[in-house]
Amino acid sequence: MNISSIGEFGLIRRFSPPFQKSLPGGTIGIGDDCAVMPWKEGRSLLVTTDMLVEEIHFLREAIPPRDLGYKSLAVNLSDIAAMGGTPESAYLSIGLPGEITLDWIDGFFLGLRELAEEESVHLLGGDTTRSPAPLIINVAVIGTVNSAQVKHRSDARVGDTVCVTGHLGDSGAGLRILLEGKPTDGDASYLLRRHHRPRPHVGEGCWLGAREEVHAMMDVSDGIDSDVRRIMERSQCGAEVHLDRLPLSPQLERSATRFGWDPVEIAATGGEDYCLLATVDSARWPDVARGFEAAFGRPLTAIGSVTESGLAYLRGNQPAELGKRGFNHFTE
Ligand code: ADP
Ligand code: MG
Repeated sequence: MNISSIGEFGLIRRFSPPFQKSLPGGTIGIGDDCAVMPWKEGRSLLVTTDMLVEEIHFLREAIPPRDLGYKSLAVNLSDIAAMGGTPESAYLSIGLPGEITLDWIDGFFLGLRELAEEESVHLLGGDTTRSPAPLIINVAVIGTVNSAQVKHRSDARVGDTVCVTGHLGDSGAGLRILLEGKPTDGDASYLLRRHHRPRPHVGEGCWLGAREEVHAMMDVSDGIDSDVRRIMERSQCGAEVHLDRLPLSPQLERSATRFGWDPVEIAATGGEDYCLLATVDSARWPDVARGFEAAFGRPLTAIGSVTESGLAYLRGNQPAELGKRGFNHFTE
């Protein structure tokens, strides 16, 4: 048997249990968006690392180096946001094929610096090596958070409202535009930009982290079809998701009509949205939703609720199916 028979998540489940035993109090290891370690005076350290591999995560010819630099940091800041934390420092390890140009390198670091400056994150170290073939980028980020405000994937409660902090599917549609060689004008260029330069929801994560009526939280990296299942697994619960309530951008809706795509399927399974998925005490939902909109000028969108078990999709309150599943390395 090879690893494609169990997939990315089966693989992590296979090796991780011995490493999840006998951890010091307050420490969280494998299984959430970040590792959590108690630090000082009621604060904890957050650590996350994410790798981008050429041909798997990006096409070198398609993504401008500046966007790739930005995105390499963005995907990590998104995991810090998912815990309700604030990013502090970043570490970049990069494996470079010999033919990479100095212009490419300058562009890459310009993009990385743009986001680092926007979010006041300091690049404090890393490693550089030659790679025999693909370009490989690994960024690790350390963040901090009030220990009492850490949001886990495992704290969803039956009856909670399930919500997201931004549009779903723009990035997935951007990727599809790229892969299918569609014209990259107007709406398509917007979607492509969402794919190449995702904005990590750091401010939103801090805001939600500070509210105790927000129970579970994670970031949307594989598409909600996959990510809602991660919350269900860690929280031992189920969920129902209204496919007709997934927030779609007008650019995605217009492009889906133009190209004959199902925008809902892209929204549920496209992945790389890097907004946040949270579950909120339903009695407090109206207050949280109002507060969020007042703070950010954009809605927090309810897409469903937490149930006892199983994932059920609905359209217009009728049971519905998705044609496709969220992203999983090794089984794609
Ligand atoms: P995310 O998409 O939020 O980065 P993943 O789904 O990639 O999270 O990973 C799930 C969990 O498994 C995380 O806690 C991550 O740190 C852990 N993990 C993934 N790969 C490894 C590995 N090779 N060694 C140790 N932990 C890992
Ligand atoms: Mg994550």
